Amino acid sequence: MTGQNELRQRIARMIAAQGPISIAQFMTVALHDPQGGYYATRDPLGADFITAPEITQAFGELIGLWCAQVWHDQGQPKPARVVELGPGRGTLMADALRAARLMPEFLANIEVVLVEASPVLAAAQKETLKDCGVPLRWVGSVADIASDRPQLTIANEFFDALPARQFVRSEKGWSERMVIVDPTGNLAFALAPAVWSFAVPPERGEAACGDVYEFSAAAASIVEDLARGIARAGGAALLIDYGYAGTGFGETLQAVGGHEFRDVLASPGENDLSAHVDFGALARAARSAGAATFGPIAQGEFLLSLGIRAREEILKKPGRPTGIDRLADPDQMGTLFKALAILPHSAPPPPGFSR
Ligand code: SAH
Repeated sequence: MTGQNELRQRIARMIAAQGPISIAQFMTVALHDPQGGYYATRDPLGADFITAPEITQAFGELIGLWCAQVWHDQGQPKPARVVELGPGRGTLMADALRAARLMPEFLANIEVVLVEASPVLAAAQKETLKDCGVPLRWVGSVADIASDRPQLTIANEFFDALPARQFVRSEKGWSERMVIVDPTGNLAFALAPAVWSFAVPPERGEAACGDVYEFSAAAASIVEDLARGIARAGGAALLIDYGYAGTGFGETLQAVGGHEFRDVLASPGENDLSAHVDFGALARAARSAGAATFGPIAQGEFLLSLGIRAREEILKKPGRPTGIDRLADPDQMGTLFKALAILPHSAPPPPGFSR
């Protein structure tokens, strides 16, 4: 019996004992169960999916310069902190810190905190960053960081991994889509009998019967915490992910393994589970916590305005694609991926964004 089958059976036993579980609970167990969880047990980068920092060093380099510039624009507050959420293999942070050597004052006054749930990936990050020359610290969740100093937080493809819930509209109201065990013993989706009446954000529009409202309370609450810290102590957050601006309805929960879409419920722990990020909801959470927001804008637009083509000229080698088209082209990652920045109201607009 494989570990993954074992996890499916454990989820089935959990449902038998306590009743149907929400999609958010299912995601949490499938991704983070210490024995069989997807992130807890492997490094998925390359084998299952590829991310921007693994495609080109220019991505992390521009983000490093972005952080240094934002810190400079706010009067070079000392000491400051740079935080990365879900740093994968540590590639983005290594590239960012190398590029930030252009501003030695910045590097001399920061500590770097890596927020990582996976022991496997934390070990990879330690290896990648062992010679980076700044103090490093690892924590398991955002709540473990004190907001006692100006903090620059970066996150690439982190928020899509946070648990999301789904509600389906009927004539009576909203019913939550749950995970059950069907009569054949397989995991399946089913609507909870209870009907909720709540107001969805107005920019989503009017819901019709059958529409799905998907949201991640975890994502909004992390952004709210970050924004509260930014409003009080200064700093910024730069969130990059695949997602949408917050209008309309629809479900985006997906399973990916071996660079292909898979069945969400079939083999928990074996595939990456994610949902597109609702940038509208995150921007709203940040503003309600007292911070200013910029974007979301398309990743392509963001990278081009930071000068990624000029960097490409220096990095390119004859006959080898640089990967930059892949990140910036609208029909590749350039439009689906978006960037949102959160800053104090007193700060000037950050590089790459205009208000
Ligand atoms: N940012 C990296 C990796 C993206 S994969 C890159 O661009 O290459 C998602 C990352 O988030 C992984 O490092 C994963 O272990 C981490 N992660 C997912 N859910 C998490 C959670 N709830 N808390 C902390 N880290 C989490």
